Amino acid sequence: VEVIQDRRALRRRVHELRAAHLRLGLVPTMGALHAGHLSLLQRARPGIDRVAVSIFVNPLQFGPGEDLERYPRDLDGDLARLEAAGCDLVFAPSAADVYAPEARTTVQVEGLGDVLCGRTRPGHFRGVTTIVAKLFHLFEPQVAVFGQKDAQQAVVLRRMVRDLDWAVELRFAPIVREPDGLAMSSRNRYLGPDERRDAQLLSAALGAARAALEAGERDAAAVGGAARRVLESGRWLRIDYVELVDTERLQPLARVEGQVLVAIAAWVGGTRLIDNVVLEVGDTGVAESELRA
Ligand code: AMP
Repeated sequence: VEVIQDRRALRRRVHELRAAHLRLGLVPTMGALHAGHLSLLQRARPGIDRVAVSIFVNPLQFGPGEDLERYPRDLDGDLARLEAAGCDLVFAPSAADVYAPEARTTVQVEGLGDVLCGRTRPGHFRGVTTIVAKLFHLFEPQVAVFGQKDAQQAVVLRRMVRDLDWAVELRFAPIVREPDGLAMSSRNRYLGPDERRDAQLLSAALGAARAALEAGERDAAAVGGAARRVLESGRWLRIDYVELVDTERLQPLARVEGQVLVAIAAWVGGTRLIDNVVLEVGDTGVAESELRA
């Protein structure tokens, strides 16, 4: 796999691809790749000639006291996985190459970045939208793929692309899980054995919310309560939020109908984990759904 480490070299390569009329798909990541990331690579392929993965632990999306320094980094392992998965191009720049010290410009999506995870992580989504905007300019991809694992991120980026008239097709990929239901995450490797058991409660809580809806409950507080009770059984677990929101504006629902995002964030020990499910709730029943891109 071809590895490019700086923006100038990337621009040259992207110009060559464009001159050859090759369609480019981009999968932005922070590395420490797992099967969830690799599923995005496959999701990028249809209709695309070359698939690129960026690996960049973006300092701008980490807050003070968060895990920027200890975030797992494994470039050699990542490259071996990407090679095996048939990735064509890897962009793995340094922070110094990406952000000039004198940079003063950011991209911010109003109103969507300060709810849910934004309450605990102020500035996080501004960091995400800024780096993704830069990557979109550098790569000019025809397609970009993001995971529903970070559902709020997907909704924020979808808004950014629409608002700024970006000619890129977004694709959202379903959450890839461990056999016991735990959503795959680079941060799972922080978990000790006891914490790892409690971590499974996030997906179990989503299952409880779904079961409440399937039993006919439509009151959002009651459905959220069913999820909370599961989380509260965890000894090492502390709830950040359990919310039922609509999938466009991310506003809390009082009664559940139509498409609903059930989103959870919790600390397990010192590790903050997130998980979610998108459900289509109608008169006739409840079905798992996807974020529309
Ligand atoms: P990250 O490296 O954590 O920034 O994630 C890079 C991309 O992979 C994001 O679009 C994530 O939503 C996506 N992703 C992370 N974990 C998963 C997962 N378990 N299933 C599907 N996509 C994922």
